[in-house]
Amino acid sequence: MLKTIASLNMAASMIPKLAEVDSLTIQAIINDEIDQISPSPHPAVKHPQSFMGAPLRPLPTDVQRGGAKLQMRMDTLCCGAHGLSLLITVTKDGKSHSLLFDTGPEEAVWESNVTRLGLDPSTIERIVLSHWHRDHSGGMLSAIRMIEESKKTSVHAQKEVVVDVHPDRPEFRGIMAHEPISLEPDPSFAEIEEAGATIFKSDEVHTALDDTFLISGSIPRLTPYEGGIPNGIRYNSEGQWEKDELIMDERLVMCNLKGKGLVVFTGCSHAGVVNVSRHAIELGGGVPLYTVVGGYHLADGSPEKLQKSLEDLKALEPTVLMPGHCTGWRFKVAIEKEMPGCMAPIFGGTKYELV
Ligand SMILES: [Zn+2]
Ligand SMILES: [Zn+2]
Repeated sequence: MLKTIASLNMAASMIPKLAEVDSLTIQAIINDEIDQISPSPHPAVKHPQSFMGAPLRPLPTDVQRGGAKLQMRMDTLCCGAHGLSLLITVTKDGKSHSLLFDTGPEEAVWESNVTRLGLDPSTIERIVLSHWHRDHSGGMLSAIRMIEESKKTSVHAQKEVVVDVHPDRPEFRGIMAHEPISLEPDPSFAEIEEAGATIFKSDEVHTALDDTFLISGSIPRLTPYEGGIPNGIRYNSEGQWEKDELIMDERLVMCNLKGKGLVVFTGCSHAGVVNVSRHAIELGGGVPLYTVVGGYHLADGSPEKLQKSLEDLKALEPTVLMPGHCTGWRFKVAIEKEMPGCMAPIFGGTKYELV
């Protein structure tokens, strides 16, 4: 372990200490897929099934419907969207902290899903952006505005929300096809501040919210088969598109859940889900890997890459795997085949409790 840390040019004493948390829940606000029906396939992950997590609304008092006072409306179910946004809440010694990991692709989707779920955004103390890609940053300004607005009527009086980002924000990102294809820009630093947040820029490993969350620096790229986005490009300040396949601004977030181990959150795994998981273990200083939650980015991976990723992930002996977003159905099928019973995939609108 020490040898590997040394290989990252980081003394073990330099890694901030992550506190153990007593409980952890994950409310998936945005994910590519939704599933209101399936039961939890893993005893360590508790979540509602058969529409039981859907918010119920009261029927008007003058409506007679055989004694029914509540109804489940289809417009209270979340919409799927290409992207990720997870509300992570931990408790430690009776005190809770909430961190929003990514904000999905569009302001309207974030706003709509939070409203449909009836969530109170005022509890969110920090937004961490995994990397500068619009499917993770697109809802950010809406999230900041809703958090700040909700505080006006909430008992959870806090300072303005902190937005934790990597400092290296590209003007634009894109893909080089027969010609460059640009993505929409991520929110700018000025827009984030104008929306009401305080910006915290960091490319170094650090902790947040009473050391209950750890946010990594750049994730070392050590496996030969995890090479980022083929033909990824960025628009530089000289007005040129340049090659940018590795997305080195990508960071992981993790918690140390008491009696379980490391709960690792990965946005899109452009670093590779194996590099992400190994780096989390290195930063965790001997705490075992419990689960990896988020986008594994293997939807378009070659069969060889899927196989290698699975072998190396399995060797890390996670208790449960919680893939979502860009993981792709092929890798989920492969996990279920090779590691039967180990997977509890995440879906938009569902709240997960690690028990
Ligand atoms: Zn991405
Ligand atoms: Zn993504």
